[in-house]
Amino acid sequence: MDFEIKLNDIFGKDNVRLQESMAEHTSFRIGGPADYYVTPQDPESLAQGIALCVEENVPYYIVGNGTNLLIADRGFRGVIFQILRTMDSITCREEDGVLLLFAQAGALLSRAARTVAEKGYAGFEFAAGIPGTIGGAVMMNAGAYGGEIGDHLLYVDVLDEKGQTLRLTLPELAFGYRRSIVMDKGYIVLDVCMSFEKGDPDAVMQRVEELSGKRKSSQPLDYPSAGSTFKRPEGYFAGKLIQDCGLKGLTVGGAQVSEKHAGFVINIGGATAADVRELIRQVQERVKDQFGVLLEPEIRMIGEFE
Ligand SMILES: Cc1cc2nc3c(=O)[nH]c(=O)nc-3n(C[C@H](O)[C@H](O)[C@H](O)COP(=O)(O)OP(=O)(O)OC[C@H]3O[C@@H](n4cnc5c(N)ncnc54)[C@H](O)[C@@H]3O)c2cc1C
Repeated sequence: MDFEIKLNDIFGKDNVRLQESMAEHTSFRIGGPADYYVTPQDPESLAQGIALCVEENVPYYIVGNGTNLLIADRGFRGVIFQILRTMDSITCREEDGVLLLFAQAGALLSRAARTVAEKGYAGFEFAAGIPGTIGGAVMMNAGAYGGEIGDHLLYVDVLDEKGQTLRLTLPELAFGYRRSIVMDKGYIVLDVCMSFEKGDPDAVMQRVEELSGKRKSSQPLDYPSAGSTFKRPEGYFAGKLIQDCGLKGLTVGGAQVSEKHAGFVINIGGATAADVRELIRQVQERVKDQFGVLLEPEIRMIGEFE
């Protein structure tokens, strides 16, 4: 049977599109077509879809909210599964002064963080302004302002490439700076359980607003981007190194080193993935020459680049 028909059988015709422009699904607004673009509605069909790809030797990739991705101009040969706005339930249970948060991978991190804050529990305020999903955040060990998603996780349920569900506890997740076992093993995050301690409700909401204000004043949120382009090199700040090289405003095609925050590459209009890659290369070269530091991209690049 034709691969497309098999996908339709598993996911329903409405959830399978062909030659879908991935520019529509990334915060950079960049990316060529995916051969197949699938929006799974539940973990069972997702597991079947992964098993089909493995059986038929078709490459696949998981996308959350596409806020940390650079997808090639020629797109992706295979299946993109986007887990966003489906598989997105958030529920809470209060137990002995602790809030247990159960969230599915497709839920927005910002919604989960606000849910916790509105109930007067502390510790998730840092995540209220990060635009990714729970799944993407676990995979990347997303963090900001001294907090990381790993700080409050009790366990994560994942799907392995054999279609089996595993429950990983915090030590098994092997979190490091912007990395996790999910990244190393290619697992797919299905849902998480997190815990938070009671806080002062007013102070918690105030902190959410304060951090949101900090983001608005320091980050180029008016332009499409994928957040911080580079990881923080040990002992330095990427943005400061780039700024000190005089690279603010450096432009290749439609891609530019933000004038507002040198750690962000932004799309000032019509940028291609090739523009962003070339700009990244030039920034890396200049920073290496001047400071001897190799900047490693934080954004994930996928698809047919060469
Ligand atoms: C304006 C802006 C500000 C940002 N600020 C921050 C910040 O403060 N801190 C920070 O850490 N990041 C920040 N980011 C980057 C980004 O939001 C995070 O990395 C986020 O965790 C990515 O989530 P996502 O759902 O968008 O993942 P995507 O970009 O869709 O994917 C990122 C990676 O996660 C994988 N992935 C996605 N979902 C799953 C899943 N269910 N299971 C397994 N793997 C999955 C993908 O395969 C990919 O490798 C920012 C981005 C923007 C645009």
